[in-house]
Amino acid sequence: MSRHAFSDLRLAAYCPRKLYYARREDDRSPPPEVERRRELAFRYEELTAAAADLTDEPIAVAPEKFRENLERARRRLDDWEDLRDPAERDVLLAGRECRGVVHKLLDNPPRPSLISAGSPPEQGVWDAQSVHAVAAAKALAWEREQPVERAYVEYPAHGVVRPIDLTVRRKARYRKAIRTLESIDGPPPRLRDDAKCDSCEYADECGVRTRSLRSMLGFG
Ligand code: SF4
Repeated sequence: MSRHAFSDLRLAAYCPRKLYYARREDDRSPPPEVERRRELAFRYEELTAAAADLTDEPIAVAPEKFRENLERARRRLDDWEDLRDPAERDVLLAGRECRGVVHKLLDNPPRPSLISAGSPPEQGVWDAQSVHAVAAAKALAWEREQPVERAYVEYPAHGVVRPIDLTVRRKARYRKAIRTLESIDGPPPRLRDDAKCDSCEYADECGVRTRSLRSMLGFG
């Protein structure tokens, strides 16, 4: 059975139509700025040192807030030492249904951590990232032949690290995303979600900007 890519599953959870557009592109590698932000997640110790100069670092909050957030993560997370200095990085996992690279792999017990270059929500993690994290945890569990009940999503430009427990609700959402992904057959309908569409790189191609303008003018 062919396995789904983590990135496809994440996009299917975010917007199936966006996945449809992304699949038509050959190059889906992240831009250099994304890589710079992700790299921050491997430098927490250096970045929180008293003498660290954060002026030119790609952080998205004030240096004081960045340090405060990381200090809170250090105090609250049992896995902090492993997150700071992971057993492995950029590991390809292949589970029963999905495959892909996890940015950090923690050991004893095994846990995956995904690194987002974006901003965290007020609480928890974004829905599509939750689906991605569940897929990574399931793939890791499949490879190691042992349960994996926790994963992490890191937002290093904000100094924020969020744990995810694989609850029944999260697993059900994962299953739904798998079903959505497997049912895509031609262009899926557009979302009616301004928060997602406004930041979507396919908004022009998708036509939602034109539609919004038409609605504002009373033609939509
Ligand atoms: S603009 Fe909206 S509906 Fe269109 S692909 Fe992007 S997120 Fe999906």
